[in-house]
Amino acid sequence: MNVPLLDLKAQHRAIGEAVVRRVLALAESQLFILGQPVVDLEAQIAALSRARFGIGVASGTDALLLPLKALDLKPGDEVITTPFTFFATAGAIHNAGGRPVFVDIEPSTYNLSPAAVEAAITPRTRAILPVHLFGQMAAMEPILAVAGARGIPVIEDAAQAIGARRRIAGAWRMAGELGAATGFSFFPSKNLGAWGDGGMVVTSDERLAERVRRLRVHGGLQMYHHDEVGTNSRLDALQATVLLAKLPHLESWSAARRAHARRYTEAFADAAAVRTPVSDPANEHIYNQYVIEVDRRDELQAYLKARQVGTAVYYPLALHLQPCFEYLGYRAGAFPAAEAATRRVLALPVYPELTEAQQDYVVECIRGFYGD
Ligand SMILES: *Cc1c(COP(=O)(O)O)cnc(C)c1O
Repeated sequence: MNVPLLDLKAQHRAIGEAVVRRVLALAESQLFILGQPVVDLEAQIAALSRARFGIGVASGTDALLLPLKALDLKPGDEVITTPFTFFATAGAIHNAGGRPVFVDIEPSTYNLSPAAVEAAITPRTRAILPVHLFGQMAAMEPILAVAGARGIPVIEDAAQAIGARRRIAGAWRMAGELGAATGFSFFPSKNLGAWGDGGMVVTSDERLAERVRRLRVHGGLQMYHHDEVGTNSRLDALQATVLLAKLPHLESWSAARRAHARRYTEAFADAAAVRTPVSDPANEHIYNQYVIEVDRRDELQAYLKARQVGTAVYYPLALHLQPCFEYLGYRAGAFPAAEAATRRVLALPVYPELTEAQQDYVVECIRGFYGD
């Protein structure tokens, strides 16, 4: 049996016709830059994340970079984030002119440790950038408390967490609702994926929204007048059209991922070799990835590959140990929880269209490898 890590062709078989119809209508219009599809998607993503404004940009990376640029960082200004995330999180800090300051994660959820964040704050701290990794929100309450007391903005990296939510003081709060600004990604492997690259900034701060809107069109909202130097980071009307067609399915897709996750976790309940993912009880996880922890991870991955089961290691090298960040002066051993995770994690197929037979096969292969 073949079980890919992600099967976008299965998604396309299910809903592709409706998406293609809308794309063909856009082709008739020949209006490809910003326009109504982008405006409509901005409104819908802002509503989903309970923010006032959405700004469509070229990628999830730029959805972090532009709000960071809006902070006008000076050399030496620090942004605290996690070393256990996709590279773009820290790359955006660097490219916005800031200095990434890494702190360790909670070994249970892989999200930023609030205590470590607090301990890392200095007079140069200009922002905190928690990542909602694999689809569950970071512990926002203590992070917001620490940041709020010092007037430091929190920028959420919600690239993997669109539609995720967290119960805070008895009320559900959405990914994107609590930070000063939030970046979403529409990279094809995210829960809401485009037919290429795309991203969105959401914020409820009107001035910040204006600033990001300006930065994405070379720093000038009026054609050929430039208040500052921005860049070209627009979301294509074509991608917005695809996303508008897919968005109504997002909730059921994430529910299907959640159901698969529950089923895996039950199937591995008595498998001593497999640590199943820990969902913080306050969170509703959207399982962009279902990540187990195991010994002999690389051997298991090769064993599964030989049996046509796709897996991935997110992430094999913590960011503080990346060659490009050598200048920051971190050493191996600095962040034990993050470094342990890089050696032990393995993402299993959890896409919505995964069948029970496929899932049973994945479980059987993994149990077979460990002989339990
Ligand atoms: C995917 C991702 C990004 C970047 O998004 P792109 O659309 O690929 O630029 C940033 N942060 C995290 C955590 C991601 O998973």
